[in-house]
Amino acid sequence: MSLERTLVILKPSAVQRGLIGEITTRFERKGLHLIGMKMMQLTDEILNEHYAHLSERPFFQRVKNSMMASPVVVCCYEGVDAIQIVRSMTGATNGRVAIPGTIRGDYSVSSQENIIHTSDSPKAALEEIARFFKPEELFEYKSCAQSFLYY
Ligand code: ADP
Repeated sequence: MSLERTLVILKPSAVQRGLIGEITTRFERKGLHLIGMKMMQLTDEILNEHYAHLSERPFFQRVKNSMMASPVVVCCYEGVDAIQIVRSMTGATNGRVAIPGTIRGDYSVSSQENIIHTSDSPKAALEEIARFFKPEELFEYKSCAQSFLYY
């Protein structure tokens, strides 16, 4: 079993619509272990890096503006296969296509204002966690539920 860490950003659309509690509750209920969490205001500089793969897309500046429209909440979760679990709980990019039961499928009707960012691969997770968290902002502690989650 491989223990992984993954990055989640609750976007301005989640913060502004008052969905922080509902979404973090979903990850808690699933059994993911929260090891880092903070509110931050994103900048053009960090978004140029984070969304570099979109730099040639016509909506690049619009997406960056949307991510800077208010503070976001960044979270780091740990768990066995955490990257794939969180990604499948997230759903498709376009909230109108995302399957009901997923976070985007339940809370979004937009390609852009789609509530949440989640790392899509082990390489991305590693880079994104380092981009948004200092090492001392991540906490190693034992969950008392551990033996009731895995065998
Ligand atoms: P994902 O967030 O599902 O990993 P991408 O990395 O392709 O998807 O895109 C990053 C973000 O850019 C999306 O979450 C969304 O906010 C925005 N985005 C992607 N495609 C579009 C689009 N066609 N129109 C507007 N915004 C988009």
